[in-house]
Amino acid sequence: MDIRMETVPPAQRKAKPDEKSLGFGRIFTDHMFVMAYTADRGWHDPHIRPYGHFSLDPAAMVLHYGQAIFEGLKAYRGEDNGIRLFRPQANLERMNRSATRMCMPTLPLDTALAGLQVLLKVDSDWVPRAQGATLYIRPTMVATEAGLGVRPAKEYLFFIILSPVGAYYPEGFNPVKIFVTDTYVRAVAGGVGEAKTAGNYAASIMAAVEAQKQGFTQVLWLDARERRYVEEVGTMNIFFVLGDRVVTPPLSGSILPGITRESVLQLLGDWGLAVEERPITIDEVLAANQRGELREVFGTGTAAVISPVGSLHYKGQDCLINGGKTGELAQRLFNELTAIQYGRKADPHQWVLRL
Ligand SMILES: *Cc1c(COP(=O)(O)O)cnc(C)c1O
Repeated sequence: MDIRMETVPPAQRKAKPDEKSLGFGRIFTDHMFVMAYTADRGWHDPHIRPYGHFSLDPAAMVLHYGQAIFEGLKAYRGEDNGIRLFRPQANLERMNRSATRMCMPTLPLDTALAGLQVLLKVDSDWVPRAQGATLYIRPTMVATEAGLGVRPAKEYLFFIILSPVGAYYPEGFNPVKIFVTDTYVRAVAGGVGEAKTAGNYAASIMAAVEAQKQGFTQVLWLDARERRYVEEVGTMNIFFVLGDRVVTPPLSGSILPGITRESVLQLLGDWGLAVEERPITIDEVLAANQRGELREVFGTGTAAVISPVGSLHYKGQDCLINGGKTGELAQRLFNELTAIQYGRKADPHQWVLRL
C-alpha cells in the first residue's frame, strides 16, 4: 500500500523542547501515521498527517466498550547519530495477538512497519540527542464505529504517535520500593491480561494510587485465584535471582509477554546462566530472602529496560532486598541491552532495525 503524505510546512513545525525536562509522554512530534479499517474495504488509506485531534462520534464503540489496544517501543539515537529501533516487528506481532484477543482486525505488518519508518524519517529531528533520552513510539488501534450494541466494531483506526521522553535514570539506577497487593488483582487466566489492551491499565490504577499514597513506587501483582503466585510488577515483568538460578513466572495467560523479558531470557541463556520459567510464590521469595538466598529482584520493560527492586512490602512488613542496592546481574543486563539499543555493541540476534 502506498503511504500518502500530508506534511507540516517546515516554517510551521513546533519548536523542539528542552531535552533536560522532557518527562514522559507529555510532548508530541509534528506528525502521526494513520490508517483506517472498514469491514468492506479492509485496511486502507495509510498516511502521514499533522499531529492533531480526531473527530469521533460520541457513540464510537471504543468510548463505551473499550476495544482499544496499544504498543510501546522506542527509537534511540546512537553516538554515530544513527537512529535505531529495538525489535519493532515483535511489537507489531504482539499487537496483532492483542487484536485477535479483542476481536479487532489484525494489521498488515509490512504496511504498519513501513508507516512507522516513514513517520520516523519525517520526524527524525525529534529523536533526542541527550544521554538516555529517547523517542517513545505509541502504536494504537481503536474501534470507531458508532453504535451501542456489544459486538465487534466494523470500523477502526490505527495510528502511531511519537513522544520525546527523558532518561529513565538521569542519576543512575534507583532501586524501587514495591507494595505487594493481596487486595487487588490485575488479570486472570482466560481474561485479557496477556493483551496490551486499555482496560487492563484502567483496572490497575486504583492499586497504584493506594500504593503511592503510602510511599511505594509500584504494585507487585499476585495471581487472581490464590493470591500467592507472583505475576508482574506494575507494567513490567519480574525476575528473581535465587542463589545461582534466575526465576521468572511463565507466560500462563494472565501476564503480558514482554519483549524485554524475552530478550533478557535470551541474554541469560547466551551467558550460560540457569534460568527457570516457573510459578513462584511470594512466600518462596520472602523465605529465600530470610535465608539470604535472594540476591536480586528486578523488573523488565521498554520504559526502564531494567528496574531494580530495593524492597518488598507484604502484609505489613518491609523486606529489604540486597541491602536496597542494585544487583550485579540487573546492572549487567541493563548495560548490555542499552549498548545494543544504542549501537555501541554487536547485535548477534539482529534485534536492531536501523532507520
Ligand atoms: C508493556 C508491558 C510489559 C513490558 O513489555 P515490554 O515489551 O518489555 O515493554 C510488561 N507488563 C505489562 C503489563 C505491560 O503492559
